[in-house]
Amino acid sequence: MQSEPQTVLEDRFGRVVDYLRLSVTDRCDFRCVYCMAEDMRFLPRQQVLTLEEMAFLGRAFVSLGVRRIRLTGGEPLVRRDVLMLVRQLGALDGLDELTITTNGSQLKTMAPALASAGVRRLNISLDSLHPERFSAITRTGKLAQVLAGIDAAQKAGISRIKLNSVIVRDLNDDEVLPLLDFALEKGLDISYIEEMPLGQIDCRDRRGGLVSSEEVRALIGERYQLLPSTETSAGPSRYYRIGSSKSRIGFISPHSHNFCDSCNRVRVTCEGRLLLCLGNEHSVDLRAVMRRYPQDMPALQNAIVNAMALKPERHYFYHDDKPQVLRFMNATGG
Ligand code: SAM
Ligand code: SF4
Repeated sequence: MQSEPQTVLEDRFGRVVDYLRLSVTDRCDFRCVYCMAEDMRFLPRQQVLTLEEMAFLGRAFVSLGVRRIRLTGGEPLVRRDVLMLVRQLGALDGLDELTITTNGSQLKTMAPALASAGVRRLNISLDSLHPERFSAITRTGKLAQVLAGIDAAQKAGISRIKLNSVIVRDLNDDEVLPLLDFALEKGLDISYIEEMPLGQIDCRDRRGGLVSSEEVRALIGERYQLLPSTETSAGPSRYYRIGSSKSRIGFISPHSHNFCDSCNRVRVTCEGRLLLCLGNEHSVDLRAVMRRYPQDMPALQNAIVNAMALKPERHYFYHDDKPQVLRFMNATGG
């Protein structure tokens, strides 16, 4: 028997899910080396949810107690008419926070519209402050464009901006402090992310590239005193502060710190696949439900509620020493 829709999504381990990451596209204008292969094949359009389906999905999750939605991708801001979705989700009663994770390339023009659609927080990825290195990491990106995007977002009044920096050995591990100084100077938060083995990339061995959060903290500790903070965000970051600076310094450590105990989130891919865990393949096809029962809110709610039984206890990125999650981060929705 199907369970009735309820207002709280709770899994078998007593964890309450109140946070959704929704990938609006698998496409991107960058090809970051740790995220994508150089030659990517993207999904045919009919396999990707329409913006209307995404808005319906957002409504269903919020009706079930989700309080925060983060739009991601691929690059969410390259999806045509994405502002329409942002406005619809931003207007949902019961949603406390709508945020976007972006590479920043489109912000120069889009920041004012995002701010007026209700976006108060942005995560902007930035791994290097050297123009040439930035282009090498992103393969197609231009640093100046992203820096202009950060300025535009601040000018538009988006008050909380967090930089996301994936630190990889021999690629950008010498930029831990320069990136921090940039964040402090601009009054931005920053999170350092350990690289995750999602998708197979053939240009290098990921295990050798891992720089642990502990190592990054030690590097920072040579110059600054990091004060542990009890603050949390909706995400898995553990936060620190430096003196009286308003910036928060976060560490996302999927390898060295297992954050599964307090996991409060699920992801939906741009194809409408509900992923119960970043590091596992357990999923439910919500697109099939929406296309079989168009506009049927209870059917969709039921599918989401029942999916909670599939949420695994923890992630396993490796199995028999081989990466076990074969989807790329852009397909997962980072
Ligand atoms: N395109 C947007 C961006 O770059 O911010 C949103 C999507 S991107 C997949 C989301 C985040 O995932 C980015 O901060 C990116 O650096 C991070 N990311 C991508 N691949 C990763 C990997 N293999 N390990 C850890 N973080 C990764
Ligand atoms: Fe694109 Fe973001 Fe992946 Fe870079 S990390 S390739 S910007 S989706």
